[in-house]
Parts: sequence; structure tokens; C-alpha cells
Amino acid sequence: MRLAICGIRHETNTFSPLRAGIEDFHVLRGEEILADGPWQAFPNVEWAPTLVSKAQPHGLVLQDAYETMVEELVERLRQASPVDGVYMDLHGAMEVEGVGDGERDLVCRVRETVGNDVPIVASLDLHANLALEVVEKTNVLTALRTAPHIDRRETQMRAMGHLVRCVKEDIRPANAIVRLPMLLPGEHAATGVEPARSLYAGLQEVEAQPHVMDASLMIGCAWTDSPFTSAAAIVVSENRKAAGEHAERLAKEIWRRRDEFAPDVVTLPVEDVVRRAVRETRHPVFISDSGDNVTAGAAGDIPLVLKTLLEAGVRDAVVAGIADAEAVARCIEAGTGAELTLNVGGKLDRVNGSPLEVTGHVVSMNPPRIVVFQVDGVKVVLTADRMPFLELRAFEEADVKPAEHEIVVVKHGYLAPELREIAGAALMAVSPGCTTLALETLPYERIRRPIFSLDEDVVFSV
Ligand SMILES: [Zn+2]
Repeated sequence: MRLAICGIRHETNTFSPLRAGIEDFHVLRGEEILADGPWQAFPNVEWAPTLVSKAQPHGLVLQDAYETMVEELVERLRQASPVDGVYMDLHGAMEVEGVGDGERDLVCRVRETVGNDVPIVASLDLHANLALEVVEKTNVLTALRTAPHIDRRETQMRAMGHLVRCVKEDIRPANAIVRLPMLLPGEHAATGVEPARSLYAGLQEVEAQPHVMDASLMIGCAWTDSPFTSAAAIVVSENRKAAGEHAERLAKEIWRRRDEFAPDVVTLPVEDVVRRAVRETRHPVFISDSGDNVTAGAAGDIPLVLKTLLEAGVRDAVVAGIADAEAVARCIEAGTGAELTLNVGGKLDRVNGSPLEVTGHVVSMNPPRIVVFQVDGVKVVLTADRMPFLELRAFEEADVKPAEHEIVVVKHGYLAPELREIAGAALMAVSPGCTTLALETLPYERIRRPIFSLDEDVVFSV
């Protein structure tokens, strides 16, 4: 059988000032796509790779960038046709300037290209907001089941397995979705802790039911202001009635437990979190600067936590990192050991941050991207572009050993597994920024109201 591969993957934070242009996307075409991926696990499939692209989370995707990619994708798909099925690699929370919901447009154009009989199966992030067309014009949607995400490959393989089955058995399942009037920051729904842990574990039970092909729980992406932003339950089956009933049951269970969703670490305003970190004796203590979370589209350049650490006179901290191309260039020019005064950060997100003047010296550098700048007791990792310090490898690139410091600040929400492992303690700052956990402070305009937990007395009925 011959199966097409395509997709544009982007998580859009509509509150972020950073636009995603074509240069921000990593685009793979044709055979390049097959170089890495689980394709070999399906030896009887002749893959027809078209175009797959992805970018770091940003603000809106520029229309030009999107149109350029989607036109090439559709053209390649047309040339590859006829195909027996289409696999789409999506995130599910893409918003495009002038277009709106990116996946809605993309899925409609792919469906139009291949016709109504060809099965389309898509893998998604669980932080996805789904337009009705995405649900109706694909045969199978399946989403990640872990946050922090460690099952991307597994999810892609599950999607491909479903697609192979649709072709082999000549079946055309459909997605049933039940939306919940619920807005949850991802940090409130880590899948290793309750209630998400048992809700996700319950998916296997649903999948074991007769005729059910797949089941997903969508947490949604709270930082995408869209009419489709919400949590949801999805069940896939050839039997639409059964799928609808199972999705309803799942949705009711999420709703029943809505008050339990919360971060699994101590969560405090910036000043309090720094005070708490200073008192902490288990080192390193990690502070997630959750309002400026680069992995969810924020700028990653707000120097507020740095400022607070300096004011508190901490003796041994690392801030990883602050995106500031200008400061990096100045340090590289000055050289290792040089002492200088810099205006750090606050240049990308001017709404929530402003530059901080600091005097210190250049400790080390990894040109052209990374500089470590020491200001009193704080090592500030300056990066030329936004860099999420999710893995130890990133710290190695900066020549910083997080385990050897008392306090380590990262611009994420929940801690990535590698950091969690070395953390003596983990704290979360409810800091300002486009990924703030204080959702009530965000200027929502397009989400459907009323919605839990922004509004009182929200009623959910199916
Ligand atoms: Zn996600």
C-alpha cells in the first residue's frame, strides 16, 4: 500500500509577540522525511513523503510562511497521488495570521486533494484545540498521552498503525468529540500526577471496548485564544454511536474531577519563590519561570527572576537562559574575562518585560550562540536565540553544570524529566509573560465563555 506523509507542526501562543516566519520552520521534503522516523516499522508500506515542517512555539504563524509551505505540500501530495491513505503529523494548536485555525485550513486542503474515500489519520499533541473540520475531515485523530511529552514516537506509530489498518481492512472510522468548557494551563495537567494520571490510564479501558480504535484526552492549549480552545475527549470508531457514548463518558469523568487539576509543585509569586528557594536546603532547587515559558511560545527574555535573585543577594544561582542576541554579541566581542555593563533581556517581550542593567564579567562562551555572564552570585546564560534548557545536553553546550549550583532557573513550566531527576527540589514561579498561569490576567477575546475556571458556575451538559 502507498501512504502519503505530510504535516505542519506549530504550537501558537496568540499572546506572544514573536511571529513565526518561514526561516523559523525546519522543512523536510520528499526523501529527507524518511531519514528519521518510525517508517521502517512498516515494511509493507510504500511511503510517499511530501512535506513535513515544524518550528518552536511562537506567536502567530505569518500568512506568507504558511501559504508557502501549504501550497508546496498540496502540490507534492497531488503529484504523489493516487495514494491509499494519508498520515498527517500535526500539533493541533496552530494559528495563522489572516487564516485563523491552521489545522482546519490544512486538513480541509489535504482532504480536498485526496478526495473523500482516502483515509486520513493524524497524530496530535495533547495541547491541541480542534476545529470541527479537523475532527470531521480526518478518520482518526490520536494524541500524545504524556506531559511532559515522552511518547511522540509511540503516538506517531499508533497513528500509522491505524492508517495501515484502515487501508488493509477497508474501514473508514470517524472521530467523536465531546468538548468541555474548561481552560487548563498545561502545568495543571502533568500526566504523572492526579487527576491526569488516572484519566489517561483510563484510555486503555476505553480502547479495549469492542469496535473502539483509539481514545484521546485533549488538555487543549490555553495560550491560544481561539473559539476552539478547550479540553475535549475524542473516541474513534466505525460505530459512531458507540464512539459518541464513550467520548461522553470520558468527558464527564474529566469534568467531575475538574477541581483537582493543579501544579504538582509549590507555586508562588516571583518574590516569594526566590525567598523560598534561598531557604531550601535540598540542592539544586529548580525554579520554573512559568510565565516566560519558551516551550509554550513565550519570548524567554524577561529578566524579572534574575532581578529578584540579585536583589535577594543569592550566592549561587544559574539563570538558563535569557534570549538576547545583542548582549551575546557584545560579550563575544569583549571576550572571556571582560567586565562590562549590559542591558539584559526585555527586548522581545516588551509588554511583560523590560531590559535590566547589570554589571558583571564574561565567564565563558560558545560562539555564536551562548555566553555565560556572571553578575554577583548569579551565572546568567545568555543565548542569541530562544533556547529551551530542557535537557542536560543544552547545559553542557553552555558549559554549566546545573547539579553543582544551589538555584537553577529555567524558562519552562513543569520540569523536563532529565532535570526532574537531578532536582533536589522544584518550585514554580507564577511570573508574568505570555504563558502566565494566571489565565485570568490574559486578554482573551475569542474563547467561548463561560469557561471553567475563568467564570463562575459553568455548566457542562452533553
Ligand atoms: Zn504539548
